Amino acid sequence: VVVGIVMWRQPPQHQEWKGAGTTAHFYEIILGRCYTYTQIVRPELGHKDCQKIGKAFTDAFLSKDPCSSTEQDYQPLMELTNQTVPCDKTLLWSKTNELVHEYAWVQRELFTLENTLLGYMADGLRWCGDPGSPEMNYQSCPDRWKDCSNNSVSVFWNTVSKRFAEDACGVVRVLLNGSVHNTFDERSTFARVEVFNLHPEKVHTLQAWVMQDIRNISSDSCSHASIKNLKLILSKRNITFTCENNYRDSFQKHLWRFSHK
Ligand code: NAD
Repeated sequence: VVVGIVMWRQPPQHQEWKGAGTTAHFYEIILGRCYTYTQIVRPELGHKDCQKIGKAFTDAFLSKDPCSSTEQDYQPLMELTNQTVPCDKTLLWSKTNELVHEYAWVQRELFTLENTLLGYMADGLRWCGDPGSPEMNYQSCPDRWKDCSNNSVSVFWNTVSKRFAEDACGVVRVLLNGSVHNTFDERSTFARVEVFNLHPEKVHTLQAWVMQDIRNISSDSCSHASIKNLKLILSKRNITFTCENNYRDSFQKHLWRFSHK
């Protein structure tokens, strides 16, 4: 008597998390962005191997617990995407996502992290894997507040933001938002990672531009308590701090030009 055992292939069962899942077509998007960046945006990086970079990116998180992601997981990716940003051209930001990128679009020589290859590839995307499956989890990914802070996306941004700050030299600028209560937010990546990874031997000054919403410009944002805190941290780190409110001159001129293109 032959007893046949029928095995049903179950679709992969992923763990359920509280955050949205991997962005649909994640792999195609990062690969496409890598080619766009290295062939069109910065053709001087045309020698970078996007296939290898794409694989190193997914190898960093596939088949792994998305709540135990580490800097080491992203090391091979980091090594393949090294890039030099000229001195005096680094532009950091916090709570000014839209404005800073409009500005960087006009001021082409300035680099935000999202104007470097790896930041460009990953900006606005979500991704995670699962230890029990070689595939991406498109259903859900850990939420950084409700599930875990060492999730694959947060660890990625901590790692690339750290390198971006470590590599900076000369004057570094930061564009901050003077219309929110936490202009210098201690929980932000700028505060937790970037400020502490600027090298005082290379970076002599951090120049803050604190911008306010044009509809309700209040008093001097540079004297805001949270900015005093930033100033104190930098003085302890031997980095000169300068602060300018509503850096109008440059911004209005450039944004005006931008809107009249
Ligand atoms: P912010 O509070 O305005 O956050 C900017 C964006 O990054 C938000 O969408 C936020 O949800 C996301 N983000 C920040 N920290 C994160 C983390 N640990 N995990 C997942 N998402 C995170 O400003 P910020 O936190 O100071 O970050 C901006 C600075 O850090 C910039 O100088 C930039 O170089 C770098 N950064 C960029 C991104 C990005 O999405 N492009 C994300 C993190 C950090």
